Amino acid sequence: MPEVGKLISGFRTFKATTFPRQKDVIGHLLAQGHKPSTLVISCADIRLSPAEIFSSNPGDLYVINNIGGLIPKFGTTGIAGILSALEYAVNDLEVQNIIVLGHAKCDGMKMIMSEKFTAEKGLSEAMKVWLSVAAEARDAVKKQLADKSEEEQQAACEHESIIIAMRNLLSYPYIKKRLDQNKLNIFGWHFDVESGTISGFNPDTNFFNEIA
Ligand SMILES: [Zn+2]
Repeated sequence: MPEVGKLISGFRTFKATTFPRQKDVIGHLLAQGHKPSTLVISCADIRLSPAEIFSSNPGDLYVINNIGGLIPKFGTTGIAGILSALEYAVNDLEVQNIIVLGHAKCDGMKMIMSEKFTAEKGLSEAMKVWLSVAAEARDAVKKQLADKSEEEQQAACEHESIIIAMRNLLSYPYIKKRLDQNKLNIFGWHFDVESGTISGFNPDTNFFNEIA
C-alpha cells in the first residue's frame, strides 16, 4: 500500500511541523466550540482544499464537498447528507457567509457533461439523483453553446452551476430568512487553478469578474 504509506509519512511531517504551530489555535477552538464564519460548498476534486486557497485557520471554514460543488433545490430528496450539513451550518453554526466555490478543469463537470451521464445508461440510483441536480446547468450549456468545443462547454457548465447553486440556496426558507435579516451573505466564486485567480459572480451584471 505505497499510497497509504505516503499519507502516513505526510502525517508525520504534519505532526512535526504544522501541528505544533497550530496547537494553540486548536486548543482555543476546542475550548470555545466550533464557530466557523463561512460555509464553503465546493467540488470534491478541486485539488487544493478551500482552507489552503484562503489561507484559513483551523475551524474558520465549514466545508461541504460533492461532485461539482452543487446545491439541489429545496425539497430534493435522497441527498440527506448534503442537506443536513447545509441546514446545520446555517441554523446551528450560524455561518455569516456561504461561498459556492467552483473551479476550472473540473472533472466532475466533465463527467456531468459526458454522454454516459447524459444518456443515464447504467447509472446507479445515487448517480441518477445527482444527475437531476446537475441537469439544469448541463442542459442550459448544451442548448446555448451547442456549437462550442467540449472544453468551452465544460468551462461554461462550471460557471452556470455556481449561478444555479446560488439561486437554489435561496429556495431554502431558513436561508432566505437569514438573508432578509442581513445575517447571511452568499457568494459565487470560480477558482482557476492554472492562473491562480478567483472570479466572483456579479448578480448585477450576470458576469464573473476577477476579484483576486
Ligand atoms: Zn471539480
